[in-house]
Amino acid sequence: MSDLLAAIEKFAKDLSPKANVFYPGSAGYETSVTSYYWVSSKQNPLAVFQPAVAQDITKFFNLLAGYQQLLFAIKGGGHIAPPGFSSTAGLLVDMTLFQQVNYNTETQTVDIGPGRLWQDVYKILPLDRTVAGASSCPGVGVAGFNLGGGYSNKTNQFGLAIDNIQSIDVVVPSGEVLTVSGTSNEDLFWALKGGGNNFGIVTNWTMITQPQGPIYSQTYHYTLDKSAKVVDAIINYSTNVDLLSNIETYWEWTVDNGELAAIISAECFYDSRTPPTEVFQEFKAIPHKTPTPAFDSWLDRMAALPGNRQSHRLGWGAEAADDLPPFRGRFSCVMLSGFKKELIEETLAVFLELSRDFISHGGVQMYPDFWPFNPSLFNNSKDCAWPHVKGSPNTPLVLNFKWQGEDNDAYWLPMIEKITSRLRRSAITLGCAVAGAPVYYNLAMEDVTVTDIYQGNLDRLLSIRQRWDSTKVMDRTGGFRI
Ligand SMILES: Cc1cc2nc3c(=O)[nH]c(=O)nc-3n(C[C@H](O)[C@H](O)[C@H](O)COP(=O)(O)OP(=O)(O)OC[C@H]3O[C@@H](n4cnc5c(N)ncnc54)[C@H](O)[C@@H]3O)c2cc1C
Repeated sequence: MSDLLAAIEKFAKDLSPKANVFYPGSAGYETSVTSYYWVSSKQNPLAVFQPAVAQDITKFFNLLAGYQQLLFAIKGGGHIAPPGFSSTAGLLVDMTLFQQVNYNTETQTVDIGPGRLWQDVYKILPLDRTVAGASSCPGVGVAGFNLGGGYSNKTNQFGLAIDNIQSIDVVVPSGEVLTVSGTSNEDLFWALKGGGNNFGIVTNWTMITQPQGPIYSQTYHYTLDKSAKVVDAIINYSTNVDLLSNIETYWEWTVDNGELAAIISAECFYDSRTPPTEVFQEFKAIPHKTPTPAFDSWLDRMAALPGNRQSHRLGWGAEAADDLPPFRGRFSCVMLSGFKKELIEETLAVFLELSRDFISHGGVQMYPDFWPFNPSLFNNSKDCAWPHVKGSPNTPLVLNFKWQGEDNDAYWLPMIEKITSRLRRSAITLGCAVAGAPVYYNLAMEDVTVTDIYQGNLDRLLSIRQRWDSTKVMDRTGGFRI
């Protein structure tokens, strides 16, 4: 070990002037290892390496070549849920210093660094442009979002984030620094669009932007006794989704001062200031709490939406608070081709049952998030590693669980797997899902396999991996390993 530490110290001295290597006990180390969305992601690495230029990463791959036992992780926004996917007991590669957000007025594309969160990108882009596939949720990193897929408010119009990438700068395990695109190293470009962290370390995405005018955004909050009406509203909306609209509806249980609070919220978005009346009418007509203020710009909306949903507070007119206690947790998802009332009702019954023992199992917050898209959402999709093709709608029913106490992992982890498989089976039986539909990388539990995720694209990915990482360097980092 002292040999390895000495090698890391030597490596640190050889880096570009702005790069950092932080050791335990330093402020830089603490900031990096604690900035994860989920406490369960945190580990104590040997050191934190912050590259400043691509050549620093080349040197890092050289270090790895000399120390076969050295594990590592790559961290962008730190939001992925399974522990070890962007955290490690080895060397943590923290991409914070790749902060570029450079808009090119001629090409109308934007270069974005993996150290950025989506909320920063909106602040820097001209107000009349946007990256159509970007996350609207505060805190989410550009890096993981772009490597896994990226569902957004504008997916009905412009597909996933990976459909809006023009080129990618990446350092591959050989140490080579490459720019890959539809005309240069096309196989690697294809693989990096949904292939996760299997092929190297990305230092830049060049993304297509679209014109952005004023928007409509308003969230309605309902008490649980309105459940049946809200379920009907979701079903009616899902049968005819206006392409400019987006509604996410979630039933959220949160523990606040030892008490369980539950509320339903419908986040209504329209990509124009004045939506046609009928789009949100049914949601508006259900008696609701004072809605959160309406926003007409992306920026204001992003500034106001809490990173952790805390709708029970918002619904009562309190300020947008982002103050859940630190939590462990997971996302899980059931991939759907459509919605039926029975599936929503079964999902709610499962959560209601869970809510009974929620507090005694350290529960902090949980919600199922129903997110219908138009079946045409993949009509303009590009060919990518993560299969999403015209005529095969496939969207996540998002299941979110947060709790405290490592001891409670033993209750929650098998429970989430059990619930997910049960709902997946029901969705197939009800005709809301297709068996073998690709599971979404970014919202999957760690029990999901790469076959589940990549399906028919797996063989091609394996051969691309063999070409670019024949010595399996990327096996030393966590993630869904191809
Ligand atoms: C509150 C919240 C809201 C969300 N909302 C959405 C949503 O609306 N739509 C959606 O599609 N998803 C959503 N997600 C899921 C989100 O897309 C994933 O969690 C995503 O991985 C986050 O990216 P990150 O950079 O923050 O994560 P990180 O944890 O930093 O990274 C995720 C993965 O990418 C790898 N990685 C990071 N940087 C690099 C790099 N430079 N090169 C190579 N590999 C790298 C990491 O090793 C890790 O495996 C949400 C998640 C949360 C917690």
